[in-house]
Amino acid sequence: MKICVIEGDGIGKEVIPEALKVLNLLGNFEIIKAEAGLECYKKYGYYLPKETIEKAKEADIILFGAVTSNPKDKNYKSPIITLRKLFDLYANVRPINNFGLGEIVGKIAGYKFLDIKSIDIVIIRENTEDLYVGREKENADKAVAERIITKKGAERIVRFAFEYAKDNNRKKVSCIHKANVLKITDGLFLETFYKISKNYNIEANDYLVDATAMHLIKNPNIFDVIVTTNMFGDILSDEASALIGGLGLVPSANIGENKALFEPVHGSAPDIAGKGIANPMAAILCVSMIFDYINENKKANLIREAIKYCLINGKTTPDLGGNLKTKEVGDEVIKYIKEMI
Ligand code: ATP
Ligand code: MG
Repeated sequence: MKICVIEGDGIGKEVIPEALKVLNLLGNFEIIKAEAGLECYKKYGYYLPKETIEKAKEADIILFGAVTSNPKDKNYKSPIITLRKLFDLYANVRPINNFGLGEIVGKIAGYKFLDIKSIDIVIIRENTEDLYVGREKENADKAVAERIITKKGAERIVRFAFEYAKDNNRKKVSCIHKANVLKITDGLFLETFYKISKNYNIEANDYLVDATAMHLIKNPNIFDVIVTTNMFGDILSDEASALIGGLGLVPSANIGENKALFEPVHGSAPDIAGKGIANPMAAILCVSMIFDYINENKKANLIREAIKYCLINGKTTPDLGGNLKTKEVGDEVIKYIKEMI
């Protein structure tokens, strides 16, 4: 199996090597390295060179670090959004899981009011439609953005969410929307949700997005699997990441019919890049998602156990209250796994 690895910019270059250590220890993959991002642009004049696209096409799986965006450049196109579109990676899966370590993680991450023992929510965000279709225009007195929800797009993401729930023994799928205001677009999404839910023996309910923003803080455990449109999913998953100690712990998968791309939810973090203190856990948890994706769940669970071990024993980078370097956290994970296999 071929994995195309794109480290990208900033801490992408620091956390992905730690993920690769784990990937190579537990699996036997052909690794194809490729470049993208701002540094790549400065070197070659492209944010996402053709060669990288070819390598990504060849691979079954892409492991992506992070790229620094360049809003000053009018021609800037985000490599990650381009890759999602190119391979039609329509389902973005973001597990929000504190491994039952709420008291510990709440304390070390400095979120003392969020010490809920166990949080285990999976947010499934539609990844290709909604306000992200790039149809914005303006004239002298107004600016307009088109919000597109297609029947096909809604059906496949809702079906994906229920299949995910079924495969992972989840009890409930909640549709998050604003159908009281966006009667036509979210109306279609919500209607599709209940239509498809009938094919599954899984509880289905729905919440308005504004109420969801409140419930996530007040009572996150009313949620199990969440399925939602692109923009709401973007915002809610960042909010939810704070429940479990921040961006350093949230991996994600972008899944299509024939290809999947895995990336930590965090960005290139220019403020800490080059210091060797970035938390590699999100990137390492991407590797556990890769093993889940190829149905090697034992290996996936072992990686999660190793992360738990590090959290319990304070083997963390400064963002989680520890004093280890990025590489040292990676080494601790490797040491734990070697002891267990
Ligand atoms: P980008 O433009 O690439 O999105 P950003 O400035 O938005 O970069 P993020 O990477 O999204 O930065 O990070 C937001 C904040 O969280 C930063 O202060 C960063 O230092 C911190 N952060 C993000 N990821 C990590 C990590 N893996 N370890 C430690 N801190 C992190
Ligand atoms: Mg960012």
